[in-house]
Amino acid sequence: MIPYGRQSISQQDVDAVVAILESDYLTQGPAVPRFEQAVADRVGAAHGVAVNSATSALHIACAALDIGAGDLLWTSPITFVASANCARYLGADVDFVDIDPDTFNMCPEALAAKLERAKAAGRLPKIIVPVHMGGQSTAAKEIADLVRPYGIRIIEDASHAIGGSYLGQPVGSCRYSDITIFSFHPVKIITTAEGGMALTNDAELAARMERLRSHGITRDPAHMTHEPDGPWYYQQIELGWNYRMTEMQAALGISQLSHLTEFVDRRNALASRYDTLLLDLPVYLPGRLKSAYSAFHLYIIRLKDKTRHRAVFGALRERGIGVNLHYIPVHLQPYYRNLGFNDGDFPLAEDYYKRAISIPLFHGLDDLQQDKVVAAISAALT
Ligand SMILES: *Cc1c(COP(=O)(O)O)cnc(C)c1O
Repeated sequence: MIPYGRQSISQQDVDAVVAILESDYLTQGPAVPRFEQAVADRVGAAHGVAVNSATSALHIACAALDIGAGDLLWTSPITFVASANCARYLGADVDFVDIDPDTFNMCPEALAAKLERAKAAGRLPKIIVPVHMGGQSTAAKEIADLVRPYGIRIIEDASHAIGGSYLGQPVGSCRYSDITIFSFHPVKIITTAEGGMALTNDAELAARMERLRSHGITRDPAHMTHEPDGPWYYQQIELGWNYRMTEMQAALGISQLSHLTEFVDRRNALASRYDTLLLDLPVYLPGRLKSAYSAFHLYIIRLKDKTRHRAVFGALRERGIGVNLHYIPVHLQPYYRNLGFNDGDFPLAEDYYKRAISIPLFHGLDDLQQDKVVAAISAALT
């Protein structure tokens, strides 16, 4: 089976992890801050807060922006459930903005219209979570221009997009957001096995997220209610969690980061090759934002004939092509239906779901395997 995605692990990665196992610190040592600095430097953000998953990063990002019961978070219906769940952990409500069918990202026109309605109804969101779907940048500037006048905070879910860029800036620079989060799950662009990071240019938000990933505890006298009792002293000043990343993960991340450009360039070369090889088949190819360089986490085709979706998907799996579907619209998950969402709420996302297939794309995919994928798609479609 050729999988839709898989990690690339080098001897350098292995050596980096083993070196940590033989060192003094397995957690809370120097590797995590080094990894945070390395990612922040690479994407041009001031601060990075490493955690044990992007889901945790979304959670502490929402908590640091003080969302809670009675508040509202908007995201895209075409994303992993974590982009929406982060609000639910804190008792806030979730709603969605339909997609642009060409880029699969939150549609700025749909957002503008929904903001008008929400303003009239007196029910504006506190946070918006645009998702860089498949590695393709969101229309981040348009989105920021639309929501900032309302004081709405922005968390970019860039789980798919480290190594990409937009308007000449690396994704993660937080030029158009308060916080950007990355995932380092093995199918994503670089990996720490499990892991994630929140990037921000706001020192206070960074300090708050650092505290929230570790029980809400501070050792900084400036944040304490009174002078430290002694050198052992710390205070828990709010409720946090244990979302810490280990030293082994951080060392793997530092090593993986040194391959980031090579990984993303190879993904783009494979994507361009797919563009050419699939051109004459009855599928829509993924759109590109002119102002962006995609990290190409996913290469998603959409069938022109949606009645054949299930059959084509099954035929590809049977031929050893590990296709997948990203994603089932979040609002159609039973958990969200129970909160009141229904079929037809976000028609463009639902139409996308009836046509989309993610085909294999990862750094280690070779041209021969890619040709095999294309031959299988061609056979399945004719
Ligand atoms: C993978 C992913 C997440 C969650 O990442 P984890 O590191 O597995 O918690 C969140 N959002 C999107 C869009 C993702 O693809």
